[in-house]
Amino acid sequence: MKYKNIPDQNGYFGDFGGCFVSETLMPAIEELKETFVKMRKDKKFQNELKSYLKNYVGRPTPLYFAEKLSKKFQFKLYLKREDLCHTGAHKINNALAQVLLAKKMGKTRVIAETGAGQHGVATATAASLLGLKCRVYMGTEDMRRQSLNVFRMQLLGTEVIGIDSGSKTLKDAINEAFRDWVTHVKDTHYVLGTAFGAHPYPYMVREFMSVIGTEAYKQIKKAEKRLPDAVIACVGGGSNAIGIFSSFIKDKKVRLIGVEAGGKGIESGLHAARFAGGRVGVFQGTKSYLLQDENGQALTTHSVSAGLDYASVGPEHSFLREIKRASYSYATDEEALNGFSTLAKEEGIIPALESSHAVGYLISHAEEFKNQLIILNLSGRGDKDVIQVKEIMENMQ
Ligand SMILES: *Cc1c(COP(=O)(O)O)cnc(C)c1O
Repeated sequence: MKYKNIPDQNGYFGDFGGCFVSETLMPAIEELKETFVKMRKDKKFQNELKSYLKNYVGRPTPLYFAEKLSKKFQFKLYLKREDLCHTGAHKINNALAQVLLAKKMGKTRVIAETGAGQHGVATATAASLLGLKCRVYMGTEDMRRQSLNVFRMQLLGTEVIGIDSGSKTLKDAINEAFRDWVTHVKDTHYVLGTAFGAHPYPYMVREFMSVIGTEAYKQIKKAEKRLPDAVIACVGGGSNAIGIFSSFIKDKKVRLIGVEAGGKGIESGLHAARFAGGRVGVFQGTKSYLLQDENGQALTTHSVSAGLDYASVGPEHSFLREIKRASYSYATDEEALNGFSTLAKEEGIIPALESSHAVGYLISHAEEFKNQLIILNLSGRGDKDVIQVKEIMENMQ
């Protein structure tokens, strides 16, 4: 199957994707689609975005040769350092681009939903920079667990609205954000945080994240005079992974590997590995793999890292898996924690718990990657996670 022309007009990647939203949101979705397509070719918009990415976010991020870790496990590993982006992760690439797009559409207000708070902080940052009003929806349970990120958003001038219904977590916050959008479509843009949701979001977020892959492709060719044997990334909704994969998809010899959160192990049922344990279903605007019960209700997921804790996965990943261009595996909480401490000890880099899943997977499968050239996308830094990891380690003793 040809890859280049996807998604189609209706936002389908093969059988996956689409646009499942209520009638009331269609005008906003259409406007977004039109503006995005126009701005992709708009020199002024692209230059403005490039300038912010360079001078504000700190791009290009380095491609770093992890020499000690490579020696220890007998592979040749390069880390794409998204952890060095302003605000500490890749999420700012997308948030900044979407808020800039909102401004071009004449919107004065952006809204977002957040679980762990990382996407909320990225959106609040971009809104502060570009002078738009910002409101972030967050479950009260998540607000309690992530009080520091709540305060961060408030410092940035964002209004954080606690959602006290349902499970008081991300799923409920998303529903509330949609309700807000329906009521305020005229002046408001909804900044979605990953390559998920109704068309054009998965496509648009991929394009905004593809800067990671574009840079990494050039950097590895310069450093090694060849393409890598494998590119590895963790997969929550799938934005950092699709961002780095996108440049390598055409080079069929490069293995693309997505790592999901295996939680306490697939057998225990406490995980977030949608490909290992899910079925195809429609959820929050799109058709993709989904962890669901026999009635099609989305299940609660379990992972040590909040950023990978989501019942579904971006539709383009489902497609890449179906056509066997990418493969998907998972790392358990334990493997992720091992990745977290090993990278800290060997390279002096404390990774985000999300990214630690990719590192943990690689270490567990080191034998398979012997003598190979690998790029691992280090999606974020672990400052936000050190207290949680400290508590886990103390409890293990
Ligand atoms: C949110 C987050 C992720 C997961 O999101 P994707 O859309 O799958 O990239 C991964 N890593 C970090 C550091 C995050 O903050």
